[in-house]
Amino acid sequence: MTPVELILKPEFLIPVVPRGAVLREHAVAVDDGVIVAVGPSADVESRYRAQRTQVLAEQMLLPGLINAHTHAAMALLRGIADDVPLVTWLNEHIWPTEAALLSPEFVRDGTTLALAEMFRGGITMINDQYFFPETVAETANALGMRAMIGMLVIDFPTAWAKTTDEYFERGLALHEAWRDSKLIHTCVSPHAPYSVNDAALERVADLSRDLDIPVHIHVQETAQEVQKGIDDTGLRPLARLEKLGLVNPRLIAVHMTQLTDAEIDCCAGNGVNVVHCPESNLKLASGMARVEDLRQAGVNVAVGTDGSASNNDLDLIGEMRTAAMPGKAVVMRANAMPAWYVLEMATVNGAKALGFGQQLGSIEVGKWADLCSIGLDALESNPVYDLISHLVYSECRRDVRNVWVNGKQRLAQGQLVRLDADELVRKAREWQRKIVQR
Ligand SMILES: [Zn+2]
Repeated sequence: MTPVELILKPEFLIPVVPRGAVLREHAVAVDDGVIVAVGPSADVESRYRAQRTQVLAEQMLLPGLINAHTHAAMALLRGIADDVPLVTWLNEHIWPTEAALLSPEFVRDGTTLALAEMFRGGITMINDQYFFPETVAETANALGMRAMIGMLVIDFPTAWAKTTDEYFERGLALHEAWRDSKLIHTCVSPHAPYSVNDAALERVADLSRDLDIPVHIHVQETAQEVQKGIDDTGLRPLARLEKLGLVNPRLIAVHMTQLTDAEIDCCAGNGVNVVHCPESNLKLASGMARVEDLRQAGVNVAVGTDGSASNNDLDLIGEMRTAAMPGKAVVMRANAMPAWYVLEMATVNGAKALGFGQQLGSIEVGKWADLCSIGLDALESNPVYDLISHLVYSECRRDVRNVWVNGKQRLAQGQLVRLDADELVRKAREWQRKIVQR
């Protein structure tokens, strides 16, 4: 018998790969942060002796959810400016508030609140873009959340960096500091084509190629952005990124609500990853990405919540449902955006977009043990005919019971392992007072 740290015995196992599989009487063995066995319980328990066995009665076990686009620290700005369009939202509300408040303390407390919310919703990895990314990295590492942290680049000075050179210097320092980390990964993260100049975007392209890390950027979020791009540069934003050498499999293009058929072909042909943020796009009335068309063209599409100020929650289970339902309405076909596909967006597709397709996103031997379990005992959860449909169309993040990242438990029976929920509420209210006073 091989010793292992942990064996999990859920009532149902949804490994995501193979597609659509729902397994009963199966167990998962985990050791040193890695899944070492998946199979019939009797078989796994005859081969492995666990320090700890957890029976997950009336629960389904699935890969941890991957939030492929967020600005975690904006949790403190949840609901600060609602019912206004993107340009007004950014220029009149978000950027002035951030200019006045941005500090490592704001980022630490906002990120902590966001990570707690996300653990409670079954999320085990985030792709984050924000100021003071070193503080986001330290916070995520301390709390045990897997995170891809963006080396932010933007044309205007902020509390974090004053010049383009300083953005790159501080970003590279972040990359160096975490290059050997198991939990913290880095990418280059220019804010958007309209807020980063050509020379800086060329540096981003070089850095991404030289370090072999992704580029995480908002692209073609609104029709106005596309029109302004054409007016200012003669090119649509995606075409400008292509000219500057950024359209390749390392590109993580967020939003993409404005896509022509030719642009969908361009994404497919160049292996571009798209991140769909349906609730943010709907709330800011930015439009809807043509995800079903991207899917049919073979483009890898992941899903993200965006920040709390434009959503206003960090609920990836809710986001899957919002991806599915308006996604069907857009093409007027009920069989578009099927439940299994939406689950793949939040798991394997997210992993692939972030460059971890071999390590994350499914429950398979050799992959990292990022997992979550969801309870099926509530009256709202019954009866259950098809578990994957059930997860997407009926489940709620409040039914998430347990979360493990790298084999370590972060949520146990719905309770945060390292964080005090009451203290988080107190801190959030303290910041609210400061922000309102301003
Ligand atoms: Zn965003």
